[in-house]
Amino acid sequence: MQRMLLLAGICAGALVGQQALAQAPDMALTRLDCGTSNPPTAVNQRFSDTYSQGDLKIQLIYSCYLVKHGNEYLLWDTGHAMTTPNVAPKVSLVDQLAQLSLKADQIKYVGISHYHGDHIGQVGAFPASTLLIGKGDWDELTSAKPREGANPAPFAHWIKGEGKVEPVPLDKDVFGDGSVLMLNTPGHTPGHHSLLVKLPQMGAVILMGDLAHFHENYDSNGVPTFNTDRSQTLASLDRVKKIAANSKATVVIQHDPRDLGKLPAFPAAAK
Ligand SMILES: [Zn+2]
Repeated sequence: MQRMLLLAGICAGALVGQQALAQAPDMALTRLDCGTSNPPTAVNQRFSDTYSQGDLKIQLIYSCYLVKHGNEYLLWDTGHAMTTPNVAPKVSLVDQLAQLSLKADQIKYVGISHYHGDHIGQVGAFPASTLLIGKGDWDELTSAKPREGANPAPFAHWIKGEGKVEPVPLDKDVFGDGSVLMLNTPGHTPGHHSLLVKLPQMGAVILMGDLAHFHENYDSNGVPTFNTDRSQTLASLDRVKKIAANSKATVVIQHDPRDLGKLPAFPAAAK
């Protein structure tokens, strides 16, 4: 009898295991192109407040990302506006999504790393989406006198109350199962966030936002002169490096072309 009960217990355990597997969401991460590069940038002036980068020049790129979670989608950052001189993307986000057979109104969430123009330009193309943005950045965008670099215009739909917005004060578990986390990484701007995506096959991936713009700054804790808070930036770099180590994450610096190869090229996706 005891043996029967034991067997029944094992069977029940196996069943629960199978159900858990069946419920694991189908996830994918796709890089989207979000701007056209200018000539390489001499980074010593604006990107190092200790002038530690010498003659280094970096060809900055502009990246956005699509996270699929079952039948739900998060768009992470929205790049330059299509009307931006010189740096507008060649193909809009809406048209890139169409190549993946997706319409704008299928994007449940638009997550914004921070309020700078090269991350918010096409947000207005997703009026049906819930806007997820750091509370510190949202407070700037909705203040009577936004800080330099914070442009409320692309967010008019949400600021007027016509769209759903969720200002994120700390971290945010986007889909409620721990698979996609907005990480509170302030310092570049008051409400800056990075994104941690835990993929079933590839494992953890951290999308940097602008916590660091290129490897040399990430590795040396470099702080751009235009960041809003130096000490917060250093604390955020420390936090992300520890999370990356603890979760064995692939760290993707969104502006660094040397990280393009870490994810499959569009339209392919990491799984
Ligand atoms: Zn920025």
